[in-house]
Amino acid sequence: MPKVNTDSMPNDLNTLSLTEPTTDTIEVNVTDIPLSLYIHIPWCVKKCPYCDFNSHELPMDSELSMYEEYVDALLLDAAMQQPLTQGRKIGSIFIGGGTPSLLPIAQYQRLFTGLRSCFEFAEDIEVTMEANPGTLEYAPFSQYLEVGINRLSIGVQSFAADKLKVLGRIHDPVQALSAIRAAKAAGFVRVNVDLMHGLPQQTMNEALEDIQMAHDAGATHISWYQLTIEPNTVFYRSQPILPDEDNLADIEQAGQSLLQQLGYNNYEVSAWAGESDKPCRHNINYWQFGDYLAIGAGAHGKVTISRNDSIDNGSLELRNKMEDDLLVTPGIYRFSKSRLPKDYVVVSSDATKESDINQITPKMVGWQAIDQEELVSEFMLNALRLHGGVAWSMFEKRTGLALNSVIKQVNSLVAQGLLVDSDTQLQPTVLGQRYLNQILRAFFIKRHLDDCLIAARY
Ligand code: SF4
Repeated sequence: MPKVNTDSMPNDLNTLSLTEPTTDTIEVNVTDIPLSLYIHIPWCVKKCPYCDFNSHELPMDSELSMYEEYVDALLLDAAMQQPLTQGRKIGSIFIGGGTPSLLPIAQYQRLFTGLRSCFEFAEDIEVTMEANPGTLEYAPFSQYLEVGINRLSIGVQSFAADKLKVLGRIHDPVQALSAIRAAKAAGFVRVNVDLMHGLPQQTMNEALEDIQMAHDAGATHISWYQLTIEPNTVFYRSQPILPDEDNLADIEQAGQSLLQQLGYNNYEVSAWAGESDKPCRHNINYWQFGDYLAIGAGAHGKVTISRNDSIDNGSLELRNKMEDDLLVTPGIYRFSKSRLPKDYVVVSSDATKESDINQITPKMVGWQAIDQEELVSEFMLNALRLHGGVAWSMFEKRTGLALNSVIKQVNSLVAQGLLVDSDTQLQPTVLGQRYLNQILRAFFIKRHLDDCLIAARY
């Protein structure tokens, strides 16, 4: 990172001017940008009182045909997004929800057969599926391996019966342990366990016991995150009693120490990879501002459209098709899908690959270019979550913006000890990791500040 004179830099972050993007842009080579795929399965047996995800209780009258229609819609959606790959292979897939383990295994077989004929998978593709310990009866884990799912993320949250009850989870401690053990016994080498802390009336010992039990049961990766109360949840309307700030800080510190002692490496705010495992490739791609396609109700994607001829090695026909279907010009875009499963399925069934933009618009409910100011804040929001940071060169390669668009903020943050002083690496210091929201404020445009700071908590 080129240096500027920092004598005149303000000491107080609040006095920093917000990002001032320049018109300096860099040519982006889309083939250098990794591509992932997110698949959303929107149903749950029961809505948890803390959950603000796009998840919907299974309809009382749900039938197998509901899953079949949904997979049809997913495959049609995938076919529509295929040109956005621009010749790239899919490096990782994440099946999230909702409760993906509710989808029958026969539908997973159909889904992956269809996806393989639509996309080219990288040979070493990482395919993660979220699993709920309360849905173990739906398919033996070995069958997930057979369709190509090679990493599980099990939503345990806690091993304490009273905590699971207050969280409204459908599983008990025995099922939680059984799920991890069954995954390992089936042959899953990589098993993440989601745990929450800061739960209602939780003591430090209880939080530490959850970590120890996940480790002892064989978790190769732990996502350890604090319960937060989100708008539009039952907990928001009727707040439980949570540990106070001092207790939360003590729990966090003790939990981090225990995770380290047990050999887990904290590579991101809440993510800990065990000695035998590695960081989740899919999430790393989000945090490194890579591209991701997204299929399913309410799914969000981000894709870079190249200025060069990398689309299928310069296939004019494909380029024209993509531009006709999605009305895109070179740039970095985000998009999202109809939120409700019934809307997603209906529109998908009506649409065809030959649809014009008006017909596919309801499915692609939000397709918009990310402007220069947002590119900076979104890149920083993601990259600075990684404790090891990212190479400075990635800023230009992923945003198409010149480094001088952020140099003022960076030098100020370095002077305040919040960013590492490095020509090659954009990285928060240990102090910066603690005050991540403070750092992010320096890069944010006002209109996105609140939204982004909320997102940054995770
Ligand atoms: S199981 Fe997960 S996605 Fe479903 S309601 Fe509970 S927290 Fe939300």
